[in-house]
Amino acid sequence: MSLTYDHYKAMSDTLSPNGQAFIDGSFCDAVDGSTFTTINPATGETLGHVAHCKAADVNRAVAAARRSFNDGVWSRAEPSVRKEILLKLAGLVAEHHQELAVLESMDTGKTITDCLHEIGTEAPKFFQWYAELADKIFGKVAPSAEDALALIVREPVGVVGAVVPWNFPMLMAVWKMAPALAAGCSVVVKPAEQTPLTAIRLAELAQEAGIPDGVINVVPGYGETAGQAIGLHSDIDIVSFTGSTEVGRMFMRYAGDSNLKGIGLELGGKSPFIVLEDADINDDLIEHAVMSAFWNGGQNCSANMRQLIAEPLVDTFLERVCQRVKAFKLGDPLDPATDIGSMITEDHKRNVMNYIEQGSIEGAQMLMGGDIDMAGSFVLPTVFNGVTPKMRIAREEIFGPVLGVISVKNMEEALAVARDTDYGLHATVFTKDIDRAIHMARSLPCGTVSVNGFSEGDIQTPFGGYKQSGSLARDNGTEALDQYLQTKTIWITTKTQF
Ligand code: NAP
Ligand code: MG
Repeated sequence: MSLTYDHYKAMSDTLSPNGQAFIDGSFCDAVDGSTFTTINPATGETLGHVAHCKAADVNRAVAAARRSFNDGVWSRAEPSVRKEILLKLAGLVAEHHQELAVLESMDTGKTITDCLHEIGTEAPKFFQWYAELADKIFGKVAPSAEDALALIVREPVGVVGAVVPWNFPMLMAVWKMAPALAAGCSVVVKPAEQTPLTAIRLAELAQEAGIPDGVINVVPGYGETAGQAIGLHSDIDIVSFTGSTEVGRMFMRYAGDSNLKGIGLELGGKSPFIVLEDADINDDLIEHAVMSAFWNGGQNCSANMRQLIAEPLVDTFLERVCQRVKAFKLGDPLDPATDIGSMITEDHKRNVMNYIEQGSIEGAQMLMGGDIDMAGSFVLPTVFNGVTPKMRIAREEIFGPVLGVISVKNMEEALAVARDTDYGLHATVFTKDIDRAIHMARSLPCGTVSVNGFSEGDIQTPFGGYKQSGSLARDNGTEALDQYLQTKTIWITTKTQF
């Protein structure tokens, strides 16, 4: 059922978001009583005051998580019990998805259409998929000699710190929580300071579903306070982090400076969209090109901003791209007709605008886009031609609606330019030649290569980065579950003579 702008506006007027932390099954203020505000970046309006958690609050949350883990209320519960509760949570998220989507849209400036998809379709699917795996985690029996029975068992890793970004606030929290909970871990989640509201509401739904006290804790706060306290906490077993490469590095240091906790990193990217000379520049290709760059206002780790186009195709490609982009509607994110919402903050808008100015200074030609004179932190979808691989806009993650075309002579040059980056998250290749497609897919050093369509894959396929886009850990797929399990050998010496 598709609802109207008026409906979502009316819903937004009735919401009164809860900004408290959720620790050990109860909502609470920060120990020192301090708060920060979260705003709607599309309007500048303050949405509420949020508990500003610091080390003392993280200590409380970790103690609750540890107690629940050691008690075994969740970690040693029968797997089918965990499965049933997570399935119930999937149902509750689906049931409340409109309210959650409106809350998300207001807290982030993301379009209601995207929020409804992420929260109404994706989030329940994640809880359901990992719920279904909870009672299918098998161990192994090793081929030992007859005087021993050697069991290899998989156990939940313990207390998980999940530190997540603002670009997909609820979905990123769910990407961590669903497999961690299915594995039997207890979790302390720190949402980004700009977007804490949906994770807080999710904790309430998790309690309603029957997740025991202490198993899920949410500590809103700043990176330098709550985030750092999670990184340095000696009773957290692993941290699963999604965010910038710079902060990812900090988590590696935090681990070294504390208890050598495991660190799973999903970081930034500068992903190429490659069109080889044999490809047809048709509506489908253009749709993938523009969505890969402008989906979520380009605030997407896998955004394909570097578009490497075979030289003879560049003019047609750009003409078609610009034509398509002109049809994008910027506006109130709560309006289902809006295609692109606002940037996450006014500061972030300034960063994006600086990159756009930098692109022109370095000699790229801006064909359309730039600033727009409207209230809220909006940036027009921007298209550059004549980008060269050494320009800053070709090397640094912009995290805004900027598509830059680099002209390439042939497949070898496309590959060389695509590889010339510290990142390795994603790449798209368009070609009609299956041999070239396979060669490119094998040669591109990145975690996901999508061929003849921009896609991050689906829940069944692992998602993560090569090089400085991440660690060996992967979100999604059965690989995500592996992050939250550890392996134990049980060696039983057996009698052979009776
Ligand atoms: P960020 O600045 O790295 O923040 C991510 C999280 O880390 C936030 O919760 C943040 O808290 C926290 N944090 C910041 N400074 C910290 C510190 N000193 N110690 C501990 N925690 C700290 O990233 P962002 O700007 O929110 O998100 C954008 C980045 O995420 C981009 O680089 C994007 O590519 C990446 N990303 C990657 C993936 C993926 O799957 N690979 C998916 C989505 C996004 P506060 O913000 O509250 O301070
Ligand atoms: Mg906000």
